[in-house]
Amino acid sequence: MTLQTEDWTLLAKCRGLQDELFPDGAEQKRARTVCAGCPVRSECLAEALDNRIEWGVWGGMTERERRQLLRQRTDITSWTSLLCPKPGAYVASTS
Ligand code: SF4
Repeated sequence: MTLQTEDWTLLAKCRGLQDELFPDGAEQKRARTVCAGCPVRSECLAEALDNRIEWGVWGGMTERERRQLLRQRTDITSWTSLLCPKPGAYVASTS
């Protein structure tokens, strides 16, 4: 069965693994490997950057990496517009 949704989190590769994405410091580099191949990586990263989420791994980036990116790119007002220019419905498989 498939479900059409605007909720990108339904396609998150890490569904059910959230605790693994919120380790401390250096462990985040290991944890971010979960994000490889995630179909909603851009949406996830944009969510964290636009909302200045300061904890955990989002979109394959650690807290430190996201802070650095935000410091470097103060000109960007909407990461969602930049990373997800065509937001829309997602098709998720359900069981
Ligand atoms: S990019 Fe990583 S943290 Fe974001 S939804 Fe995908 S697996 Fe989860």
